[in-house]
Amino acid sequence: MTCYLCGKKKESYMAYLCNDCQRIQDIMKLYPDVKETLEFVYLRNDTQINNKKDIVTKKLKQLKKVKEVETEQVD
Ligand SMILES: [Zn+2]
Repeated sequence: MTCYLCGKKKESYMAYLCNDCQRIQDIMKLYPDVKETLEFVYLRNDTQINNKKDIVTKKLKQLKKVKEVETEQVD
């Protein structure tokens, strides 16, 4: 049998959740804003996604420049 939340194999046949997901459920009972916290930590909004794209694009351009300089030096 598999865990109803994560789909991994669960330790107890009788339980709906594996031990890790049971722990998450316990935390959710203690803190009402677990979903919001997870979304804040793990999910990016549009601005954050665009910032990340800009950073990656800049790094790729820098790498391309470095490669061009390296090949010029070899020639
Ligand atoms: Zn699980």
